[in-house]
Amino acid sequence: MVDFTLTDEQKDLREMAHNFADKEIRPVAWEYDRDSTWPQEIVEKAWEVGLMNAELPEEYGGPELDMLSGCLIEEEMGWGCSGIGTSLMANGLAATPVILGGSEEIKKKYLGMLTEEPKLASFALTEPDAGSDVGGMKTRAVKQGDKYVISGSKCFITNGSHADWYTVYAKTDPDAGHRGISAFVVPKEAGVVVDKKEDKLGQRASDTALISFDEVEVPADHLLGEENKGFKLAMMTLDRTRPGVSAMAVGIGRAAFEFAADYSKERVQFGVPIAMHQAIQFMIADMATKLEAARLLVYKSAVLLDQGQRNTLASSHAKRFAADSAMEVAVDAVQVYGGYGFIKEYPVEKLMRDAKIMQLYEGTSQIQRLVIAREVLMPRRIEEPSKVGVAA
Ligand SMILES: Cc1cc2nc3c(=O)[nH]c(=O)nc-3n(C[C@H](O)[C@H](O)[C@H](O)COP(=O)(O)OP(=O)(O)OC[C@H]3O[C@@H](n4cnc5c(N)ncnc54)[C@H](O)[C@@H]3O)c2cc1C
Repeated sequence: MVDFTLTDEQKDLREMAHNFADKEIRPVAWEYDRDSTWPQEIVEKAWEVGLMNAELPEEYGGPELDMLSGCLIEEEMGWGCSGIGTSLMANGLAATPVILGGSEEIKKKYLGMLTEEPKLASFALTEPDAGSDVGGMKTRAVKQGDKYVISGSKCFITNGSHADWYTVYAKTDPDAGHRGISAFVVPKEAGVVVDKKEDKLGQRASDTALISFDEVEVPADHLLGEENKGFKLAMMTLDRTRPGVSAMAVGIGRAAFEFAADYSKERVQFGVPIAMHQAIQFMIADMATKLEAARLLVYKSAVLLDQGQRNTLASSHAKRFAADSAMEVAVDAVQVYGGYGFIKEYPVEKLMRDAKIMQLYEGTSQIQRLVIAREVLMPRRIEEPSKVGVAA
């Protein structure tokens, strides 16, 4: 039997996250978007009330929430402002490879840093010449005695300017393609340089940076998992984070839908509210259906993980459909607003700009389709991660 009922704890958590988004995020979201303001005080408040680091295990100070609960938080953050939400949620992306592959000491030190103080970590996979095709990365990690020396650069790194540590993917066997990648924890103070903060179309309150490593040394125990198994770790990480990012896409779409539905009841043309015109009603109906379907895919992809099952296909379905739906819903919301939708004084153009990134990061919509096609045409065992790339 399928039961879509949330537990009382999940309902309370969702309400708490919604109230936070409503009171702390929404009132400043459009101003922060305009000025591309880094939301430091919101990061601190969200950390204080327990809305960050949802997936971190209790033994390292985290709440160890189930995946579905994490998705409930992410939808509300996306509803409030997905730029600020991305800043709050990116720790999960950096921490997951540490949870999966870190030694006890590394987990204590680096996960503990995130739960003891409102600190940030980044996931550094993408490079200027290696986005979807992760196997083409050029960053090198060379073992020298009891340390690794890392050199290279990573682009588009969320929270890159503010992180205290990074999960960095680098080639330990440069001739082995995706089979020559290893993952490391690299503390900022080891010498990570922030070269540039990007000026973006949307999610402008989030920080996206180009960072580089010039012979940065880390102790050998900062290797996560086994040498040359970093690609698998990245894929396992993205299976776990895509439900959340898809939930954030649902949140953006829901915000756009609500604005459009309200506006359609107020705006009068041809003597009636435009909601009385069937063309508008059909647009509103399609928006509602897309959001409902996207949310169900998100829940399924999260619950499979909570049940200890593989969710690669479900998480790519969720990411692809929720991202594309968020974009379509936001574009339709602008249409419902007419010319006003194009004006910055009105709320929906920001949502349209924000929604676009959902089809790009954590694997583009094309890459999700490649994963889906491979999964449905050639189902494979969990031990063999896809060669299809994916960045975060
Ligand atoms: C705001 C923002 C935040 C980000 N945050 C992070 C982060 O925190 N950490 C991180 O590591 N990365 C991050 N990224 C990087 C992001 O994951 C990549 O931009 C994304 O994976 C795509 O890579 P690319 O930009 O190099 O595009 P490319 O890989 O060059 O793709 C260009 C186009 O070609 C398509 N394409 C590529 N290969 C194929 C194929 N085989 N079949 C069909 N179509 C294909 C793509 O879908 C896309 O439409 C972020 C990016 C942005 C913009």
